[in-house]
Amino acid sequence: MATGDLSPTTVDILAIAAHRDDVEQTCGGTLLVQQSLGWRTGILDLTQGESGTRGTAEDRAREAAEAARILRVSHREALDLPDGNVENTRENRLKIAAVLRRLRPRVVILPYWQGRHPDHYTTATLGYEACFAAGLSKLDLSPEHGAPHRPYKILYASLYADVRPTFVVDITPHIETRLAALLAYRSQYGKQPTGSGLFVPEDDIRDRTFSTARHYGLLAGVRYAEPFVQREVSLVSDLMMLPVQSI
Ligand SMILES: [Zn+2]
Repeated sequence: MATGDLSPTTVDILAIAAHRDDVEQTCGGTLLVQQSLGWRTGILDLTQGESGTRGTAEDRAREAAEAARILRVSHREALDLPDGNVENTRENRLKIAAVLRRLRPRVVILPYWQGRHPDHYTTATLGYEACFAAGLSKLDLSPEHGAPHRPYKILYASLYADVRPTFVVDITPHIETRLAALLAYRSQYGKQPTGSGLFVPEDDIRDRTFSTARHYGLLAGVRYAEPFVQREVSLVSDLMMLPVQSI
């Protein structure tokens, strides 16, 4: 059951994540870049945040809607997978495939396939297999969800992974907006005693967000950037147009 639908139309780029606020942390700047280039962006959160240390699922729904507005996405919705127990099951693949058939993205962004939180790395595999399933003509989904559709490109947001990115996206003009989207999650980042040993204080969020983006920016000679991994090799048609200076 989807909640919080902003619009019934399709998107060009869909970021899929386990938790509300994951996209804001790993690829919110990239969604802003793509939106500014004229593409329709969207976010699919797999869980609703009912198990979080701070705040309720209702708090997080409200905050996610505010963050979506700040990120200027055309669409955001949340599925009802159990928070803290995201599993790669047939039922869950079908739920995501139904969204993919409805929204029909060309590009899907998933979390990187290794990490600390099981929900994150499970979402990488679950999301990939849902993308595959969505393209099957004989999938057990009713036609009302839309015709079979397989995204063309799958990328992995690797900001929190200890891995060398395949490429980075320059988010310099959007770094403040990206931070504002993250700070929309007041229940997670506002100053409060609950879970204070577990959560980063709000004062540190700006510093952490900017220094991480600066690190990835330095890898490519820009100010601020977000990193991605793609499994495929890159194809080049003109060596003269290759960016990022070597020496
Ligand atoms: Zn998360």
